[in-house]
Amino acid sequence: MALTLPATFAFSQSSLQAYANCPRRFWLAYVEQLPWPSQETKPFDAYEEQMRLGSRFHQAVRRAETGFDPELLAATLDYPLDEWFAAYTRHRPDDLPTQFVASEQVLSIPFGNENGRYRLAARYDLIAAERANEPENEQARAVIIDWKTTSRPTRRARLQEQLQTVVYPFVLVEASESLPWGPIDPAQVEMRYWFTAAPDESVIFPYSADLHAANRTRLQGLLAEMLAGSVQADFPKVPDTEQSRQHLCAYCVYRSRCDRGIDAGDLADVDDADFFVVDLEESLEFTLDTVEALAF
Ligand code: SF4
Repeated sequence: MALTLPATFAFSQSSLQAYANCPRRFWLAYVEQLPWPSQETKPFDAYEEQMRLGSRFHQAVRRAETGFDPELLAATLDYPLDEWFAAYTRHRPDDLPTQFVASEQVLSIPFGNENGRYRLAARYDLIAAERANEPENEQARAVIIDWKTTSRPTRRARLQEQLQTVVYPFVLVEASESLPWGPIDPAQVEMRYWFTAAPDESVIFPYSADLHAANRTRLQGLLAEMLAGSVQADFPKVPDTEQSRQHLCAYCVYRSRCDRGIDAGDLADVDDADFFVVDLEESLEFTLDTVEALAF
């Protein structure tokens, strides 16, 4: 027997990260799709406020990237959004390709094995790309930007471990053939994390053919593991150590169910504000039928 997921289910960096962190969390959130029985962080109001501000910042940047006047946009924003947006207007990277600039674009690619045919989807804050064989431009080139509004920048080593750093460039390269800028060499792709808390210190991850091959192996391995399971017992809880209780279970909505403590972790102690915090609604967005419309 193999894992049964809705035919329209698309994997994302969130679902893969949930599995990598704790297979049981993947089972509960994505297979059983259980509602949230407990708060992820305390104070909850501060967490909600942080999520709301992050969403409003992304909305303002999306508008600016699609041609709205930044000065008019800035006039509509209160603290701290006004400061974040000012940081964006002052420190938006000035070396990005300009031929194709896409905000909030969703790409998806085929992702499956003999146990199931699914898709792997990614929603990009910004893709800036240029086509090959244009004057002064020998090869297609693409830069992926992810805007982060966490209270402090995420450490490079931590970002490197995250499946977002694997999935985003991988999907972009695989999807590029069907996109306006055309087939792209992995070496011409770059992933950048930009932080409101350190707007002139983006963390940049160059991509390469070797990384692309390694990412393919890693993603296919994760997928094979996931699809080989069929019941909850095939998706074990993360080992019960002090470390995993403090850094994973304390921020997981399922900790009461798993008997891994009662108190939510403190938002102020989170190394990265989005550390292990999954917006379930957003994470499940790719299970919607509309994913078909996103397929290229
Ligand atoms: S509470 Fe801990 S063991 Fe349970 S799903 Fe969450 S991370 Fe996994």
